[in-house]
Amino acid sequence: MEPGERIVSTYNAGPFAAGAALASFERIGLTHVPVGTGNSERLVRAIELLRPDAAVLTPSYAAHLVEWADAHDVDLRGSSVERVLVAGEPGGGEPAFRAELEEGWGARVTEAMGIGDIGVSLWGECEEQDGMHLGARGFVHPELIDPETGSALELRDGASGELVLSHLRHRAAPLLRFRTRDHVQVRLGRCACGRTGPRVRCVGRTDDMLIVRGVNVFPSAVREVVSAFAPEVSGHIRVRPRSGDVKQEPPLPVSVELAREGTARPGLADAIRERLRSTLVVQTTVELVPWGSLGRSEYKSKLVEH
Ligand SMILES: [Zn+2]
Repeated sequence: MEPGERIVSTYNAGPFAAGAALASFERIGLTHVPVGTGNSERLVRAIELLRPDAAVLTPSYAAHLVEWADAHDVDLRGSSVERVLVAGEPGGGEPAFRAELEEGWGARVTEAMGIGDIGVSLWGECEEQDGMHLGARGFVHPELIDPETGSALELRDGASGELVLSHLRHRAAPLLRFRTRDHVQVRLGRCACGRTGPRVRCVGRTDDMLIVRGVNVFPSAVREVVSAFAPEVSGHIRVRPRSGDVKQEPPLPVSVELAREGTARPGLADAIRERLRSTLVVQTTVELVPWGSLGRSEYKSKLVEH
């Protein structure tokens, strides 16, 4: 974003945690239009009347607005918004999901990630979009651990594990080795943009992770595989474990929502099940459900329902 540009935000954040990210918009010289969540009509009206260059929202809400605009005959693609900044949950970095958002908004989608306890928007994509750079070097120290054992993992190129963060310069309530519950993949090679900070891609939340016969399964990874079947599917899924445990016996039940006016072609469920097996090494049962039957969110999507 450049000084002088306009941005519309949809976070109901107070001044303490995530609100600091919103204050940064003014700090870098943007005109900030804070709309908040809960009223898509008002948000779309603000976009039409105030013509922002960018919108910042959760990926779930960005996807919800594409559907909302479609149902209300609103031309989101033709709007002034050329950049959509997503943060708050995984999704913006999943290629198929990102492509859907870019198509629906007619805008470039970039992703940022932070955590209220440590700092907001600590990580963000550059123009190369090859993972999110740590923008808080010298302020926050990143480490990786194995989420099951808690043991440290080497922060090397290609490594994956749970992200652990420590404050280096926080004076009031510094946190040391804070577990973020974000499971990330690390990139350390030089980025074409010239920035040298490590980059991560968020694979999913450790909280959401299930272990199916020894294999770690992230619901966001299931969504990523399923989304590749668009336009036959809507991209909405629910993983429905049969017990409340992290460890699950296969097959893992997954509900997959069909596209609007979509009908299940013979073999679609089998094709999805087979792709999940070959990509994630997990046995599933795939139930196809009609469009609109899995709930939408204006904030963060629930991918698991026990
Ligand atoms: Zn870069």
